[in-house]
Amino acid sequence: MISFYPGPSRVYDQVPKYVKDAHAAGILSMNHRSPEFIAMMKRTVALLKQKLSIPKNYTILFTSSATECWEVVAQSWITNKSFHLYNGAFGQKWYDYTRKLKPGATALPFGRETVLNPGQFVFEGTENVICITQNETSNGTQVSNELIRTIRAGNPQHIIAVDVTSSLAGIKLDFSAADIWLASVQKCFGLPAGLGIMICSPGAVERARAIDNRQFYNSAVVMIDMIGKWQTSCTPNVMGIYLLMRVMEKVKPINAIHKITASRYKNWMKMLDKQPTLRHLIRNEAVRSLTVLPLEADEKTISKIKKSAKANGFLLGDGYGDLKPTTLRIANFPALTDREVQALTKFLAKA
Ligand SMILES: *Cc1c(COP(=O)(O)O)cnc(C)c1O
Repeated sequence: MISFYPGPSRVYDQVPKYVKDAHAAGILSMNHRSPEFIAMMKRTVALLKQKLSIPKNYTILFTSSATECWEVVAQSWITNKSFHLYNGAFGQKWYDYTRKLKPGATALPFGRETVLNPGQFVFEGTENVICITQNETSNGTQVSNELIRTIRAGNPQHIIAVDVTSSLAGIKLDFSAADIWLASVQKCFGLPAGLGIMICSPGAVERARAIDNRQFYNSAVVMIDMIGKWQTSCTPNVMGIYLLMRVMEKVKPINAIHKITASRYKNWMKMLDKQPTLRHLIRNEAVRSLTVLPLEADEKTISKIKKSAKANGFLLGDGYGDLKPTTLRIANFPALTDREVQALTKFLAKA
């Protein structure tokens, strides 16, 4: 079965070998204060920065999931208000979690066909946090780098946090345009779940230090202090970090990966344009995600395609929430091979 599920998703073919290597090299019982661990951490961070074009002066923190990163943002960076720009289920969940911890959380929902106009929002006060879901996995829409840059330019005094769980390592992101970039590895990284990543600008680090909330084991300042020694505040997912290091050694730089993602996206759209029963859920091309494609049809067709896809060896993603009966989602993630993508394209063209 080839998984086109948009998370947890197909892992790179080399992962089973890397797991074996990890066992053989003693990684599975490695002490997380040992020099070997420190060396692995240094290399992993260096490779992430190199392959994903992350500025050298950014700090990378490790958590266990993207959801945990949402909580860390709320606990460590939000002192008063947060503004949540979202058009789908993941952005809304981020807002819902934050609201429970911080009553100043403000929802700024927008339509899934809407190109955001940053001028229409007033982000009050100073030193608040603006939360943006860059790639909304539930409905296959995205917010552009350009828009995030515009929001940055208009709000230099606020911290901008961006959820890139289903786009980091799949498309090129402009890290200079925001302060906190959060994700987990079971989507575009092609890795098993259980590791979250938070990429922090010098401004985010400075703000966390000024707030200095040290209440939690995963308070940002505590994690920042620990990563300064190439360590973590608890025993981390050592195998997850090792697998991340191995995958980062192997993958092409993000510019090359972006080109592949974009060109495959174009091919998916070419097929869909000619496909009589299926269409892209989102009509506005300007807001379509490059990494998650939601396909729409009537209920009967969707259920038929899902069933026959399974019989043909393809696992497709269910539609999310309300969209479940009339949509399905396919991942356009880098770990999928050209052959697999071509095979599903052929299958869907005739579905
Ligand atoms: C999958 C996903 C999450 C949740 O990730 P976890 O690692 O399960 O916490 C959050 N945000 C977006 C946009 C996602 O796609």
